[in-house]
Amino acid sequence: MNLIILGSVAFDAIETPYGKTDKIIGGAGSYISLAASYLTDSLGLVSVVGEDFPEEYLNLLKSKKIDIEGIEIKENQKTFFWSGKYHSNMNKRDTLITELNVLADFKPKVPDAYKDADFLMLGNLCPDMQMMVLEQLNKRPKMIALDTMNFWIDQNPDKLKEVIKKTDLLIINDEEVKLLSNSDNLVKGAKEILKQGVKYIVVKKGEHGALLFGEDQIFSAPALPLESVFDPTGAGDTFAGGLIGYLASQNDTSFETIKTAVVVGSVLASFNVEKFGTEKIANLNSDMIKERFNKFVSLTSFATL
Ligand code: AMP
Repeated sequence: MNLIILGSVAFDAIETPYGKTDKIIGGAGSYISLAASYLTDSLGLVSVVGEDFPEEYLNLLKSKKIDIEGIEIKENQKTFFWSGKYHSNMNKRDTLITELNVLADFKPKVPDAYKDADFLMLGNLCPDMQMMVLEQLNKRPKMIALDTMNFWIDQNPDKLKEVIKKTDLLIINDEEVKLLSNSDNLVKGAKEILKQGVKYIVVKKGEHGALLFGEDQIFSAPALPLESVFDPTGAGDTFAGGLIGYLASQNDTSFETIKTAVVVGSVLASFNVEKFGTEKIANLNSDMIKERFNKFVSLTSFATL
């Protein structure tokens, strides 16, 4: 196994100004692994669902060559359920329902076949769960990437800091940089977090693209200017999936390769917002991805002085 992903597999119910869904497949782990599946076919997902989770959704993951041995199915229990509503400004959403169900006492179990992976993406979950995955591996992966959110920064800062110390690449948004550092300035904040032990930070700025920080280097990637965003759910996870999937496909962790990976992540995220839930990200092909990647290249190429 080349790439391991830890993340929620969920039922989501989403409402945006364009419409509403019933319970559909969601969860950070689903978005990350679907996005990464276009880049590598040696990936496994560590997660948990209840016995109410439809075979059809597990088959969707399998059809993308995502190994699901790491998804535990808990008898007599219900799958994690999340519901959110976006208003006309799609940058803001209200969480309507969070039912943790099987996630409440989830103890990730990493299958033996995953334990020598070179790439690991720790999706946004409780830092204790992220640590449990790290502790089960046979060797340290070449690249450990981590996503988190304001909730864990507030609730479990000590454990989160321990996990961050073991991480190479932190993928967070601009607000989270401010929470994790003591600075309101993104560049100063990122530099401060780099001192906590991570090698690279990718700061997601939504429709304004992403910034990559290394020790003495900064790279800026745009987001694709889109006329309409249908559903932003999972955009950050999809971005992370494209990014780590590309690194795993290149078997490389240099700053130059991470730059391209950030653009690949932006490409996948730009597709994700075009339809509800995972609908778009589950129906891509490599030509579509290459074509959009080239749009990003032309969007940012200009003559030198
Ligand atoms: P994002 O739009 O990147 O915030 O990701 C949305 C996804 O995160 C949805 O598919 C949800 O199922 C999932 N999610 C929401 N809250 C949680 C939580 N507390 N733990 C794990 N996954 C969550």
